Amino acid sequence: MQTLLGHHWHHLPADEVRLLLETDPVKGLDTFEVRHRQERFGPNVLTPQKGASPLVRFLRQFNNPLILILLASSVITAVLKDPLDAAVIFGVVFINAVIGYAQEARAEQAIEALAQTISTEATVIRGGKTLRVNAAELVPGDLVTLLSGAKVPADLRLIRSRDLQVAEAALTGESAPVEKAADAHLEPDTLLAERRNMAYASTLVTYGQATGIVAAIGDNTEVGRISRLLSEAQELQTPLTRKIAGFSKIVLYAILVLAAATFGIGVLRGQPAGETFYAAIALVVAMIPEGLPAALTVTLAIGVSRMARRRAIIRKLPAVETLGSTTVICSDKTGTLTQNQMTVTEIYAGDTFYTVSGAGYAPTGEISPVGDSMALREILTAGLLCNDSALAESEGRWTAQGDPTEAALITAALKGGLTLAQREAPRVDAIPFESQHQYMATLHDLGADRRMLYVKGSIEAILARSGVSLDPAGLPVALDRDAVHAAADRMAADGLRVLAFARREFSLAQVALSHEDLCCNLTFLGLQGMIDPPRQEAIQAVAAAQTAGIRVKMITGDHALTAGTIARQIGLTGAAGRVLTGKELAELSDEQLIAAADETSVFARVSPEQKLRLVDALQARGHVVAMTGDGVNDAPALKQANIGVAMGITGTDVSKEAADMVLTDDNFATIAAAIEEGRTVFDNLTKMIAWTLPTNLGQGLVILAAIVLGVTLPILPIQILWINMMTAVLLGLTLAMERGEPDIMRRPPRDPGAPILTRVLVWRVVLVGLLILVAAFGLFELELGLGVDIAVARTVAVNAVVIIEIFYLFNSRSLTQSPFRIGFFSNRWVLAGAAAMTLAQLAFTYLPPFNRVFASAPISPADWGRIVAFGVAGYLVIEAEKWLRRSKSKMVMRSNRG
Ligand code: ADP
Ligand code: MG
Repeated sequence: MQTLLGHHWHHLPADEVRLLLETDPVKGLDTFEVRHRQERFGPNVLTPQKGASPLVRFLRQFNNPLILILLASSVITAVLKDPLDAAVIFGVVFINAVIGYAQEARAEQAIEALAQTISTEATVIRGGKTLRVNAAELVPGDLVTLLSGAKVPADLRLIRSRDLQVAEAALTGESAPVEKAADAHLEPDTLLAERRNMAYASTLVTYGQATGIVAAIGDNTEVGRISRLLSEAQELQTPLTRKIAGFSKIVLYAILVLAAATFGIGVLRGQPAGETFYAAIALVVAMIPEGLPAALTVTLAIGVSRMARRRAIIRKLPAVETLGSTTVICSDKTGTLTQNQMTVTEIYAGDTFYTVSGAGYAPTGEISPVGDSMALREILTAGLLCNDSALAESEGRWTAQGDPTEAALITAALKGGLTLAQREAPRVDAIPFESQHQYMATLHDLGADRRMLYVKGSIEAILARSGVSLDPAGLPVALDRDAVHAAADRMAADGLRVLAFARREFSLAQVALSHEDLCCNLTFLGLQGMIDPPRQEAIQAVAAAQTAGIRVKMITGDHALTAGTIARQIGLTGAAGRVLTGKELAELSDEQLIAAADETSVFARVSPEQKLRLVDALQARGHVVAMTGDGVNDAPALKQANIGVAMGITGTDVSKEAADMVLTDDNFATIAAAIEEGRTVFDNLTKMIAWTLPTNLGQGLVILAAIVLGVTLPILPIQILWINMMTAVLLGLTLAMERGEPDIMRRPPRDPGAPILTRVLVWRVVLVGLLILVAAFGLFELELGLGVDIAVARTVAVNAVVIIEIFYLFNSRSLTQSPFRIGFFSNRWVLAGAAAMTLAQLAFTYLPPFNRVFASAPISPADWGRIVAFGVAGYLVIEAEKWLRRSKSKMVMRSNRG
């Protein structure tokens, strides 16, 4: 094989491509050759695009109005006052940037790592066998099959295709799918977007199927060359952080105006300009919560990793926040609420009911009544042949490989005496299952000039296409539709998933299948009903979600009676729960749909387009909707939902790409867990903000008071920087590690429109801010009155601010409960942070180098006593306030009940 580059793959005939790439168009490469090529060409991955260099990212930390003001002020200070002071301000700004950089890097890493855990798999034919491999293992020359829903794993020259449509937005920006055809003849200079016989890496198959030969991998693919993947890079912003950023900007301008006014008034009053300017700077530094945005991002990132540990992978950061406000979860039934462990237990064929014994996929069990029914044999054969899945056995344990629904049909066939050897009947063609058609069909060569079409699907889809059915002896009889419906209803009412089967005979001339071949005249073969038990954890999770004020709705493609029964078993509806079918939905006007979507809990035989309508309808009522989906056609609904949830195991690549969150275990309980974490994250963000703001307010008031009263500054700008920086990292960040509070899933969902700080919290911020003012200013003046050195008085003021913040940190661990209630030791970080902060203050107060840099001085035990007294008082006041509010709300609850 010569060099692979430079070929116009789209221009070459398929045969030539095959020769150039030395591959077999039916069997693919053999494993030995694959290994050889893997060594030679390396893995099929894109070299990660280097983001901005660390230096650029570090410098970006200074691109912040506040930081620029601080830098400017340090230069001015150097000119006006003490160069040492300026150096310290500069140093602190520098350290602040380092911390900001580290935090941002950590958040980015957490999120990048998650994006990579969703790897793409590819279906490849090697040595004549079809395998699923990680897309990274593909080599040039590999024979790859594409099915609807898959992401194209490498650049492919198509050699066979059926109705293939590919969305090439990742490559060309065009989101409408384009039709592809293996046999298109193209000129060498055909534009990328028009190369119909090629499928390019990173594009998505939205319809049809195809087989192609890998022509380019990794960086040599078209997408590798344009490196569009960069545009997928995660944004670290969410609606909340954007709101906070906007808010900070307003605060900043307000404070700048205030500072300018202070300066002006001071100068007018005849105070020295240098002194006044210094005070104005102090005011700016004191009042701006510069560490807050980074801390919020870190909190979100911690939420992302916690969710990942609970098997929910966040693909888009804003989802972390939105999850906390979710009011409705719309969930699939099969596999999400149920176990997706299918066992056929009933069969209806030749107007006879059969029961099937045995559990799981092990082919041990009997079909009774025993007898020699041709009709039974035919329906089992149809299940065995119209099937893309397999059974696997290891150490006596049987599992499904592929679609569990299909695997169950194999087990049933084996129990009925059929053998796997019968699967050898050559398959001539197939139409894969797509939920919008609700059937799958295969065409087999039965020898003796006969070709048989077998089809399986929903009762509605199959019955509509059938003309006759079989009697027990296998002879055609008139089809009794009512009897079939009655049989299906009987199975579905027990919660069984019901599949209908049919066949149609063709002559040898039939070499391919199209949907028209299935239009009519099918011979109806009967029904197979399988149990799919509810997931135990889903039952608990549904109850938990309902307690949390979240409505759970089941939206399924399955039969209405099956859906209704499972919904009752899961506790989603009561005995009288109504089920709305897709057909009924289609007849509703938009208004009616909005009401129905709100009131109904179970929707059956719903098409993907209707899922989209349902999301719209729920959102029209102000709901925040989480919607699951796995198929290609679910993508629009997933995008429209506030939280699109894709299935990690059974979901298509298309659905994962459209989703905000991917469940690695396909489990409903994981959605509930993610919501719980989302609420916790929001809670922690609120705690962090409510804890941070009083420091800024209090310090600002201290400075303002000093300026207004025309007295010396109780706290110097450098000291304020010290307080802000140290407390933000050592104290504030520890709140991000707070676990969910015990009642987190007993509260109603958060109103996304509600302000972050409620009136209660604003009040609390003001209260603590005032306490800081009184303590710092009061103790400072007291010390001066005692005649101590000003450095000592200032050190007392600084310690007062910090100690109050430490005590208030414990208050802030819960917005409503006492820290002892949620477990005093349940967040070790808080304890460690408080201890570290205390040590830092001791260093600040007693170590000479600190004394020199920060103009601090040792203080006496009596000073500490007074400071701690303020801290304890603050703590007790806030706890008393919480306690009062708790008893008040209890009283309200009791009077509501009474
Ligand atoms: P859900 O995932 O909500 O149960 P699906 O869209 O997967 O719904 O299935 C809808 C209906 O399509 C099922 O009730 C069944 O009748 C039919 N069906 C499901 N899987 C297959 C399959 N592999 N082959 C043929 N028909 C199927
Ligand atoms: Mg399904």
